Amino acid sequence: MYKNSQIWFVTGAQLLYGGDAVVAVDAHSTEMVKGLNDSGNLPLKVVYKGTVNSSAEVAKTFSDANNDPTCVGVITWMHTFSPAKMWIHGLKDYHKPLLHLHTQYNEKIPWNTMDMDFMNLNQSAHGDREFGFITSRLRKPRKIVVGYWKDKSTQEKIAVWMRVCVAWADSQNMRIIRFGDNMNNVAVTDGDKVEAEIRLGYHVDNAPIATLVPYVDAVTEAEIDALIAEYAKIYDFADDCKPGAEKHQFVRDAAAQEIGLRRFLEEKGAKAFTTSFDELEGMKQLMGFASQRLMAEGYGFGAEGDWKTAALVRTMWVMGQGLPGGQSFLEDYTLNFDGANSSILQAHMLEINPEIAGNRPRIEVHFLGIGDARTCARLVFQAHSGEGIAATVIDMGNRFRMIVNKVKVIDPQPLPKLPVACALWIPQPDFEVGAGAWIIAGGTHHSSFSYSLKVEHLEDYAEIADIELLTIDEKTTVQDFKKEIRTNEVYYLLNKALQ
Ligand code: MN
Repeated sequence: MYKNSQIWFVTGAQLLYGGDAVVAVDAHSTEMVKGLNDSGNLPLKVVYKGTVNSSAEVAKTFSDANNDPTCVGVITWMHTFSPAKMWIHGLKDYHKPLLHLHTQYNEKIPWNTMDMDFMNLNQSAHGDREFGFITSRLRKPRKIVVGYWKDKSTQEKIAVWMRVCVAWADSQNMRIIRFGDNMNNVAVTDGDKVEAEIRLGYHVDNAPIATLVPYVDAVTEAEIDALIAEYAKIYDFADDCKPGAEKHQFVRDAAAQEIGLRRFLEEKGAKAFTTSFDELEGMKQLMGFASQRLMAEGYGFGAEGDWKTAALVRTMWVMGQGLPGGQSFLEDYTLNFDGANSSILQAHMLEINPEIAGNRPRIEVHFLGIGDARTCARLVFQAHSGEGIAATVIDMGNRFRMIVNKVKVIDPQPLPKLPVACALWIPQPDFEVGAGAWIIAGGTHHSSFSYSLKVEHLEDYAEIADIELLTIDEKTTVQDFKKEIRTNEVYYLLNKALQ
C-alpha cells in the first residue's frame, strides 16, 4: 500500500527573473526532494514534478495528479514569488490532499554576500504568503508545515500527513459489509450513508448473514487443522479448549468462521465489516473470535452494525502501518471511580484486536447470554499500559463530527469472572473533564483506539475530509470546549448557507 503510493512535489515560481533563475529553482527543488527522500523519515517517496510558472502548467500538473492513481497527495512550495492567480484553476479542480510547505532552500541568511539577485531567487518568505492567500480565498483544505526542510521535526510533520494521505486514498474505494443493520434502535452508531460516501469516500453495503454461511460451511477440516496449529504458536489455550478437550469444537467452529469470513470479504473486495448479535441464522456462534483475528490483519470492524467505527478502525490501521503499537475497536464498558486514577474499562463482549495485548492472548470458550450469540470462542487478554488516542465520527445532521480524546492506558486488575479482552484508561486531561467533554460532544460508546497514532494524524484526516474536529487533550477545559462547539454550530450553519 505504501510502496504503490507517492507524493508529488511541485515548486511555484514565475518567469520574471530570467532563465538563470529557472535553472536554479529547478536544481534546488531537485536537491530538496532528494534530501527529503534520503532522510529516512518519510514513509512515502516524494517525486519532483517540476516548477510551474503559468496557469496552464499549474492546471496540467494538478489534473495529472488527480488522474494518477499512484499520486495520493501534492506538496507545494514557492521558491520565488508565484503570482497566485495562476494557481486558481488548478487548485479549484484538484481534489486530493494538499500540503503547503513553508520552507526555504537556504537555512541562514548569507549576510556578507546577499545581493538583489539572491533576493529575487529566494522569496519563499513572501511567495508562500501569496500562495497562502489563494488557498485561503478558495477555502481549500490543506496542511501547512512550517520549518526548514532538512529538520527532522519538519519531516515528521510531513510524514504524519503522508500516512493520512495513504489512508484517505484507501478509504476512497473502501467497501464496508454490514451483516445486519444497526441494532436495537441505537442512534449514535447510525448516520447518513449517502453523505458518508460523498464526504468520506467509503461505501456501505448490506449482506444477509445467510450469504456468508455457505463460505463457512465450505471450510475443510484440513484448513481448520492448519489454522489451529497457527493459533497454538501465538496463543495459549484454556485447558477445556485444547485439542481433544470438551470445548475444542467451538474453537474449530470459530476457525471455520475466520476462514469463511476472510474469503467472503476478499471476494466482495471489502476492507471492513460489521456484525450483529441478533442476526446469526445459520451460524454456530457470534463471529467475535474471527473479528479479532481479521482486525489484526487490517480489516475495519464495528460491532452491532456500527459502520462508521468499522471505517475508522480500518483508516487508522492504514495510517499506523509499520509503526509500533496497534489499533482496536473498543467500547466504554464500566467506570471505576478512584480519585485521580478514575478510569473507564474498555472492552466488548468479544471483539478486541489482539494487536494491543500486553500478555499472550488465551483462547477461551464461554456461553454469551446476549441476543443469539450462544457459546463463543474468544481471545482473552489485557491491553498494555501506554499513551494512545480514541476517536469516533458521529453524524450531527448537517455535518460529520470527529471527536478525538488522548487517553492514558493503565494496568487493570485481573478479571477472573469476565473472560473478555479489555483495556483500562484515564481520558485526558482527567476522567471528569475527558468523559464530560466526550459526552457534551455527543461521542459514541464505541471508539477506534490507537497506540501508534497521534492527534495530529486525525487533525490531518479531518482537514482533508473537511469535517468538524473536536480534540480533547491535556489543555481541554469544559468551558472552552462548550464555546468551541457553539462557534462550530454557527460556522457549519453559515458555511452551508454560503455554498
Ligand atoms: Mn457495542
